[in-house]
Amino acid sequence: MSHAPAPAPASVPTHCPYCALQCGMNLRRSGQTVEVVDRDDFPVNRGALCGKGRTAPAVLSSRVRLTGPLVRHPATGRLEPAAWEEALRATADGLRRARARHGADAVGVFGGGGLTNEKAYALGKFARVVLGTSQIDYNGRFCMSSAAAAHGRAFGLDRGLPFPLEDVPHTGCVLLVGSNLAETMPPALRYLTELKDNGGTLIVVDPRRTKTAEQADLHLAPRPGTDLALALGLLHLVVAQGRTDEEFIRERTTGWEDARAAAMAHWPELVERITGVGVPQLRAAAAAFCDAPNAMVLTARGPEQQSKGTDTVGAWINLALATGNAGRPLAGYGCLTGQGNGQGGREHGQKADQLPGYRRLDDPLARAHVAGVWGVDPDSLPGPGRSAYELLDALGRDVRALLLMGSNPVVSAPRAGHVEGRLRSLDFLAVADVVLSETAELADVVLPVAQWAEETGTTTNLEGRVLLRRRALAPPPGVRSDLEVLHGLAGLLGYGKGFPTDPEEVFGELRRASSGGPADYAGISYRRLEEEQGVFWPCPEPGRAGQGASGTGGTEGTEETEGASGTGGTGCGEPHPGTPRLFLDRFATPDGRARFVTVVHREAAEPTDAEYPVVLTTGRVVAQYQSGAQTRRVDELNEAAPGPFVQLHPQLAARVGVAEGEAVAVVSRRGRAVAPARVSEAIRPDTVFMPFHWPGAGRANTLTNPALDPTSRMPEFKVCAVRLERPEHREDPAHPAHPAHPERATG
Ligand code: SF4
Repeated sequence: MSHAPAPAPASVPTHCPYCALQCGMNLRRSGQTVEVVDRDDFPVNRGALCGKGRTAPAVLSSRVRLTGPLVRHPATGRLEPAAWEEALRATADGLRRARARHGADAVGVFGGGGLTNEKAYALGKFARVVLGTSQIDYNGRFCMSSAAAAHGRAFGLDRGLPFPLEDVPHTGCVLLVGSNLAETMPPALRYLTELKDNGGTLIVVDPRRTKTAEQADLHLAPRPGTDLALALGLLHLVVAQGRTDEEFIRERTTGWEDARAAAMAHWPELVERITGVGVPQLRAAAAAFCDAPNAMVLTARGPEQQSKGTDTVGAWINLALATGNAGRPLAGYGCLTGQGNGQGGREHGQKADQLPGYRRLDDPLARAHVAGVWGVDPDSLPGPGRSAYELLDALGRDVRALLLMGSNPVVSAPRAGHVEGRLRSLDFLAVADVVLSETAELADVVLPVAQWAEETGTTTNLEGRVLLRRRALAPPPGVRSDLEVLHGLAGLLGYGKGFPTDPEEVFGELRRASSGGPADYAGISYRRLEEEQGVFWPCPEPGRAGQGASGTGGTEGTEETEGASGTGGTGCGEPHPGTPRLFLDRFATPDGRARFVTVVHREAAEPTDAEYPVVLTTGRVVAQYQSGAQTRRVDELNEAAPGPFVQLHPQLAARVGVAEGEAVAVVSRRGRAVAPARVSEAIRPDTVFMPFHWPGAGRANTLTNPALDPTSRMPEFKVCAVRLERPEHREDPAHPAHPAHPERATG
């Protein structure tokens, strides 16, 4: 009996390739391309998309993307088209040569927060099993590792939001710290609008009056790098006014006395002097937060991207705990993850110190479990390696060859000029990407890989909701998936098995590797993800207890993680329903109690002085995404956001002598960037803002400070000292004097 081929579905339900909201969308085939069609059934965005998501198919077109491998020709020094076999062999040879000459740790691997769970898992396994190197980390280290560390310290478990976004409109007050949702994930703004429609209060903490801050009932604009003091000052007022929740503190927390004492040393007038936020505003914010029957604290990159990011997030968590706003319905602390798979990407093994399932690499039981799944000796697994910036800083010195997937550190790393130099100094660099990014331009081998709409895989959004992205069309001829790249390289390096190319098969292995760990995916299958609107982890296999039950887990910044947290197993063979809300019965610490962590204010790593008297803070704009490798290829987005700029207050502009649209030079101890001035009263007079999406003369990360948080190893993107100058004529941003990559042209 013959079977007619099944008709192609009219449209394929999937998710956006960009940010951590992971908006649902339908993709409808139109010839050889796809177009985005509204998908109203996905609850997170309910059909709404920002311009980036709506235009994402433009990057699928062959006009802007790589469609065949490139290998740098030894004679011409140019990247020339090559066959896949040649490119893979050159890559395997480059990695093998560095290892033979300098040892396994001379080979580095750098991943990305946009990689699917399957790719992140396979990349971590490839580094540790095939290359035997400890030197792997990823750009998600730049995104929210301080919040991850603070979550681990306080709650014993790191998941961005411990509750679904649908809870936000039903709390009484949201204290939003260092997040500009209106530009970074516009469809999420409706949760705040609905909060206000329901009578709730919105307090926004941001040095700039952003589009999100404009929605606030109360906007606090502290000097960048001082929100740790701000949180302590609010906690001081809460204590002084007798608004703490003593029963919650007594029953569900530890460490209060020391944390309380630290807060009492930050009295309002002192906090006003440190932050620039007036005492009346502090009092109003503390009152609004405490008057609400339930409240939430939501943080993002603002408090995290500091050399004291873990303590800063910890201070905001302390405020939530002291007021009883944690571990109960419609209240809590959460972090708004940034990158598309920022959450899942840090759970499955591409982070320097972690194994799949959010297990710790230095935990003998965790090593034994994962080594068992991988079929290797636990003793063969390397230990923890360097964090992202430290790895980039070691290139060309200790680390001589690098395999890089889904990241563009020439634009996105702090002190980017230095990082670019380190990349150039490598003996060998291979980059897998969809376009010829600024980092790929430096590579010895460029491997063109498939994109989100061309392959199936899972991501985990900011709520901890695991989602299925479905393949809607085939990649162009000459393009392979990242899993195929790893399969090919592993084969050439002597591992013919263990690196399947089918994402579902990889996910099956990931489930086993994560089973019993803090981020337990064992009960999640592609079939469930097709039938449900995502599944929240932890989701153990049927009959098994909730997360951390094996006692083998642990998240960054914690000594241990064990015990369930109200997530319990079904115990009856029924599929586990997943865990939308964490910590309702207990926190994931050994004693089930949340931990206050004693924190005190300290200065940014680079305070302003007479030579560099202004603070630079960096961030994003709505029409571009991260390093812009994809979004800068979309005409519509470039029309909306054509290039970098320097936002500064009219008083500062007058002092420097620049007018709206004129070029202004921003100079830090690490370099100089030039971009048009955008004069605005929406920013403090002592602060300038630059978006970081662009390379070249206006590259914001030329200026940023790589000072690292001691726990999370996250760089201080949000604060550095600069001075402003009127640029010389040759520094017109339209005609940069120093082209980005003059000596390594591409063929
Ligand atoms: Fe995509 Fe984020 Fe925009 Fe949603 S908000 S469409 S996930 S970039």
